[in-house]
Amino acid sequence: MTELNEKTDIKSLTREELTAQIKDMGVPAFRAAQIYQWLHEKQAVSFHEMTNLPSELRGQLEEKYALVVLRPVDVKISAIDGTRKYLFGLPDGNVIESVLMKYKHGNSVCISSQAGCRMGCRFCASAIGGLARSLRTSEMLEQVYRIQKDIGERISNVVMMGSGEPLDNYDNTLRFIHMVTDEWGLNISQRSITVSTCGLVPEMRRLAEEKLQITLALSLHAPDDETRRKLMPVANKYSLKEVLEACHMYFETTGRRVTFEYSLVRGVNDNLEEAKALVRLIRDQHGHVNLIPVNPVREREFVQSSAGAVTAFKNYLEKNGINVTIRREMGRDIQGACGQLRRSYLEEKERENAGLCAY
Ligand code: SAH
Repeated sequence: MTELNEKTDIKSLTREELTAQIKDMGVPAFRAAQIYQWLHEKQAVSFHEMTNLPSELRGQLEEKYALVVLRPVDVKISAIDGTRKYLFGLPDGNVIESVLMKYKHGNSVCISSQAGCRMGCRFCASAIGGLARSLRTSEMLEQVYRIQKDIGERISNVVMMGSGEPLDNYDNTLRFIHMVTDEWGLNISQRSITVSTCGLVPEMRRLAEEKLQITLALSLHAPDDETRRKLMPVANKYSLKEVLEACHMYFETTGRRVTFEYSLVRGVNDNLEEAKALVRLIRDQHGHVNLIPVNPVREREFVQSSAGAVTAFKNYLEKNGINVTIRREMGRDIQGACGQLRRSYLEEKERENAGLCAY
C-alpha cells in the first residue's frame, strides 16, 4: 500500500524503487540517493527541508508524493527507569503506540505493526477493540525516526512487539526490515531486530526462507494446546506441534536461535507441572525462554504470578538445561503493557463523544 490520497507514499519506497521512479521523471539518479538520505537518514519532515535539491525538483516531489510524518499526541516518561511511551497520530486519525527503552547496550524501540490487532489474545489490551488497520512501512519507520529525533540519540535495536501481529502485515513488515537496515537509512543491524509472532505458521516458514539474520520471537505462553487455546485463539488454528516445527525450521534455515516468550499468569500456566511440560516441549529446540510476569490489564481478569512462582518456574527450567531470562518490567508506572495507552486514549475519546451526545 503506497498510495495516499492519490499521491504515492514516498517514505514506503525502497531505495531501488525510488531510484527507478526518479529516473522515470528524467531526473539524474544521484538525486534519488540524496532524497533517500533526507527521508531515512536525516528524517526530514518536509520536502522544503531538502535544501541541496533544486527548488523545481522539490516542487515536483511535493506534487507527486505524500510525506508521511507521525504526530506525537502524548508521551509518558517513566519515573522509575526512563522508559518513554509515545502515542502517535497517523495521517488518517488512527492512533498507535511505541515505546523507547534505554538499556546499557543501547536504545531500543518497540514498534506497533498494526493499529489494534485481530489475533484476540485474552490477556492483551491491543486485542480489545479488534483491528483498525495494518500500518504502512512509512508508519513503522516513522515510529523509530520520531523517537530518535525526540531523544537526540541513536536507536540501535528495534523490537516488533507493540500492537498488532507483524506477520499479519507480512509485506510491509518485510519492507520495513529491509529499509531500517539500509546503509543509507538508520543502518541498524539485522541482528538487532526482533519480530514477535503469536505463531502464524505459514508466515513463519516464509520468513525463514527470507534467510534474514533477525531474531524471531514466538509468543508461546503455554506448554500444551489446551491451555494455549484458553489464552490465544490462534492456537485453535495451529497446533503447538506445527508452531514448534516452524520454529525449528527457522533455526535450521537461518542459524538464529528463536526466543520463546512466556507470560506467567497466576493459576493458569505458572505451576511446576507446566514448567515440566515446557521443558519436555522445547528441550530439543535451540531456543531461549523469556519469562514475563503478565502485565495486568484493567479489562482483563488475569493476575500476575507471585514473585516466588516466577523464580521457581525459572529455576526449574534452568536446572533442566533451558536458557532462560526474566524480562525486566519496564515502564510499569506508564501503562507499559501492549496497547494500554492507546486503549485509555480511545476510551477517553468515547467518553468525550458520549458527553457530547448527552447535550
Ligand atoms: N502479535 C505479536 C507481537 C505483539 S505482543 C505476538 O503475539 O507476539 C508482544 C508480546 O507481549 C507477546 O508475547 C504478547 O503475547 C505479550 N503480551 C501482550 N499483552 C501482555 C500482557 N498484558 N502481559 C504480558 N505480556 C503481554
